[in-house]
Amino acid sequence: MSMKFFIHYGLHFIFPILIAIWYDQKHWLKIYLILLATMLVDLDHLLANPIFDPKRCSINFHPLHTYWAIGIYLLALLHKKTRIIAIGLLLHMITDFIDCKMLLFINP
Ligand SMILES: [Zn+2]
Repeated sequence: MSMKFFIHYGLHFIFPILIAIWYDQKHWLKIYLILLATMLVDLDHLLANPIFDPKRCSINFHPLHTYWAIGIYLLALLHKKTRIIAIGLLLHMITDFIDCKMLLFINP
């Protein structure tokens, strides 16, 4: 298993557990499921051609992965009701951003 694979799925599946427990110890499972649901933002990849390209950086390519979208997620942090979704979305963007940095590292 490659390091990149480990970091990517570690952030996507394991890190949200830690955030969920930190956020709300009693209802961590519900929070965890909400965090996993924010992965649905990757549905915007379906608009792209090709849908998946390992050499492409998602950030600023897909509509829900632009700096504009990230700005909206930051605003959503301010609202108690949307905060956990915003945390999930921002975590997703950070994960994709790390992927982009590793892409540069692997194929400069
Ligand atoms: Zn993504």
